[in-house]
Amino acid sequence: MSLPSHVVDALRDRLPSSRLRPDVPLAPFTTFNLGGPADWYADVRSADELAAVTRTARRHDIPFFLLGTGANVIVGDRGYRGLVVHNRARGLQVDPDTNRVRAESGAVVYPDLIERTVSAGLSGLEHYVGIPSTVGGALWQNLHFLAPPPERERTMFLEEVVHSADILTEDGERKTVGVDYFDFGYDYSILHDRDDVVLAATFQLHADRGRNRMREIMDANLQWRAERHPPLDTEPSVGSIFKKIEGVGAGRLIDECGLKGARIGGAMITHRHANIFVNVEDARAADVCALIELARGTVERETGYRLETEIDFIGEFVPPTDAEPTMVPKDPDLVTAAERAKAS
Ligand SMILES: Cc1cc2nc3c(=O)[nH]c(=O)nc-3n(C[C@H](O)[C@H](O)[C@H](O)COP(=O)(O)OP(=O)(O)OC[C@H]3O[C@@H](n4cnc5c(N)ncnc54)[C@H](O)[C@@H]3O)c2cc1C
Repeated sequence: MSLPSHVVDALRDRLPSSRLRPDVPLAPFTTFNLGGPADWYADVRSADELAAVTRTARRHDIPFFLLGTGANVIVGDRGYRGLVVHNRARGLQVDPDTNRVRAESGAVVYPDLIERTVSAGLSGLEHYVGIPSTVGGALWQNLHFLAPPPERERTMFLEEVVHSADILTEDGERKTVGVDYFDFGYDYSILHDRDDVVLAATFQLHADRGRNRMREIMDANLQWRAERHPPLDTEPSVGSIFKKIEGVGAGRLIDECGLKGARIGGAMITHRHANIFVNVEDARAADVCALIELARGTVERETGYRLETEIDFIGEFVPPTDAEPTMVPKDPDLVTAAERAKAS
């Protein structure tokens, strides 16, 4: 999609021209490291720039997509027709009098936000250590993780520490809203159903947990992740592909169908965790979509459960790769969490 020159001029009034570019590959800005280019790409560095750029795109009817760390999106191989707004508004302010932290929505949850708050002795965000996310993406999804060890008795949600947020509503109004506005649920917030843009969020933290205990929780959670999840730097992924099925587990169903190690093109269902697919070698979105169809079809045929994806599909896709899967054997040096649990 080409933008009329008056729209490019209007956007350039809001951003230095080096931060507004045509035809930019998106793969490097996603944790899966795949997908095609954006017709136009804007790199915004403050909440005000984010508001100004998205307002301008709306005023001129330019479709736009807001990208955080790209940890929950699959970009189609043909890329995105319109403007991708890459949110790098990363300002953080801690208020020691109220135990609150205000973070611009492009702030990176870990390490930046968590290290900053834990160093200030403020507890509440340390549970989400190691999860790739911006603050905006975290609100979109209601980021969640297990309660601390040893009990790990429940799932904790980001909503528990959200105090308020500055948003640009889909109607163009800039306002501050409280936690209830988001109607948070499991993997859900109102942002799934409204085109509001989160500009910044304020978290209400508490100062009653010692720094050592917070560090213990962070270490334990990082270890939990290292034992179960493929490392992003060598095995790019988008985390869990399918939604949780209460009491059953999407990953367990895929595993029971013998699909760990199934590879199509450059994408594979990892042996570490059957609900995580990895980009082993120059994967295309079409390869991932073929694996999704394989997992969904096999699980439905063999168990009767219907798997639903939990990720966002962005841009234009080509048909899924038409190839039979090959089965890649497990690396003999890899010990999965299930094998470790069985052995102990
Ligand atoms: C290895 C790995 C492990 C993971 N583990 C977990 C986990 O334990 N728990 C968990 O909950 N998730 C987990 N995830 C999923 C992912 O980390 C979260 O969904 C995260 O919140 C995505 O944030 P992001 O900034 O990357 O958002 P993106 O993927 O860039 O965007 C996701 C959606 O949020 C929207 N969005 C982003 N910013 C804004 C904004 N400012 N205003 C409005 N909408 C916005 C986007 O438009 C898009 O629709 C994991 C992912 C990976 C890759």
